Amino acid sequence: MDDHDENALHEKPLEFMTSIANSGGHCDGQAVLPHENRTGYYAFCSCGDWRVDVETQEDGLHLARVHTGSVQA
Ligand SMILES: [Zn+2]
Repeated sequence: MDDHDENALHEKPLEFMTSIANSGGHCDGQAVLPHENRTGYYAFCSCGDWRVDVETQEDGLHLARVHTGSVQA
């Protein structure tokens, strides 16, 4: 498990989204957040070009790393 990364992504999500909204089209940050009205999660990137629906936080974190090129798909 990679609890350290997961905690970082979920700490103060509103502040995190504000910070990445100001980052301007680069892949500086990704977040995985729960859907409000149904089960599952969605993940998005600060570049504004990437958003996916996922079943679990782990899936979202993995896809985020694939998106930024830090791991192979
Ligand atoms: Zn991106």
